[in-house]
Amino acid sequence: MLRRAGPSLCRFLLERKSSAGYSSYSVEAKISRPVQAQRLEGIDKNIWVEFVKLAATYSTVNLGQGFPDFPPPDFLKEAFVRALSRENYMLHQYTRAFGHPPLVKILAQFFGKLLGRELDPMINVMVTVGAYQALFCCFQAFVEEGDEVIIIEPFFDCYEPMVKMAGGTPVFVPLRLKAPKDGKLMSSADWQLDPTELASKFSERTKAIVLNSPNNPLGKVFSRGELELIADLCVKHDVLCISDEVYEWLVYDGKEHIRIASLQGMWDRTVIIGSAGKTFSATGWKVGWTVGPNRLLQHLRTVHQNSVYHCATVAQEAMAQGFQRELELYGKPDSYFIQLPKELQQKRDWLVQSLDAVGMKPIIPEGTYFLVADISEFKSDVPDVPDSDEPYDSRFAKWMVKNKGLAAIPLSAFYCGAHKNNYNHFIRFCFAKEEATLKAANDILQKWKQEKTSP
Ligand code: PMP
Repeated sequence: MLRRAGPSLCRFLLERKSSAGYSSYSVEAKISRPVQAQRLEGIDKNIWVEFVKLAATYSTVNLGQGFPDFPPPDFLKEAFVRALSRENYMLHQYTRAFGHPPLVKILAQFFGKLLGRELDPMINVMVTVGAYQALFCCFQAFVEEGDEVIIIEPFFDCYEPMVKMAGGTPVFVPLRLKAPKDGKLMSSADWQLDPTELASKFSERTKAIVLNSPNNPLGKVFSRGELELIADLCVKHDVLCISDEVYEWLVYDGKEHIRIASLQGMWDRTVIIGSAGKTFSATGWKVGWTVGPNRLLQHLRTVHQNSVYHCATVAQEAMAQGFQRELELYGKPDSYFIQLPKELQQKRDWLVQSLDAVGMKPIIPEGTYFLVADISEFKSDVPDVPDSDEPYDSRFAKWMVKNKGLAAIPLSAFYCGAHKNNYNHFIRFCFAKEEATLKAANDILQKWKQEKTSP
């Protein structure tokens, strides 16, 4: 605009600016001091940015990022449209910061029923911008400079940078895979914590442990025994539990999702985190929540109030109606929380069979919409580079998307530090996909297998 104004007007404007106390250098001056806050150091790279771009560029079939390629249920879409078009135009305005009243009320009723305790919607529930923001609030609210936070590997990748941004130190403990039984497919239950190793990670510096059951990426659903082990250590060392339960409804083969907050001594020290995105197959709506005791949630409210303030009112209104329906149909065959896992279990079985048939050995998940598969038999296609900094599975996944048009995520992306190279021959597939997408993936795998075996 200055250039178009001509040189004399330009000079005039600059002189006016400097006579008003601004330096004329402000137009051109470069910032010479470091702009990046130190707490961002080392966390600026993100696996999703890279793999989402690769999938968009090369893949014909994307089983990488975790979201359904099918629509949310009709009742939810209809609730959203109703909320948008209703006379009540106040649904287009701000609502209560800590959660739209109809949504927190129904969440309190729903989780009160599940946990067998009375919940106050105004103090025991807080709505967030997806589970992501719920996690962010927890770390910001609880973690101080020097605090340690135990993270079970493999883990949803944002836990580590979020702990660091809060000034804390992540302490990792791996789930260890039992040796395979000859010829038998393994299950996500074969990934287990070593109780002695877990106990050794707790100290007076430990502020919290992050639990993610059902677990992304493995699909492991922690058993009561495993949860009791964690709970006992939390109580013994006076440690908080940040319980990421976004896949709580996605459990298979009659397996039960147990909420750690329901175990002895755990309600007072646990924040339950949930996601409407996963619960109702609407990840783009970004509605999440936290449930817990006021003593913990009051601090989450402080972070929330001073960061995002609240999440979209219309989406919260529609979610409230979705939960209302689910409360009425609780445990009945028409409930979405019964139907979705039933459909996903079929998709899981289909993908398991498809991968097994080509020799990419799947580890059968007990929950979530992810499974990991062993790529060892495909090593001849993407030979190892022993001294490479990049884990083998990462190079394999990149090669696969570029050369076969099939996107998946390397398991090493869910590890940090020492254990990153221990489990680097697995890739994670998402099976929350239309039948046509899964069939297209199967076609790619079958063709690949034929090319490998034909002389
Ligand atoms: N936790 C886990 C374990 C997840 O897998 C995800 C999403 N992939 C989230 C939290 C974030 O959920 P949301 O989309 O509701 O922010």
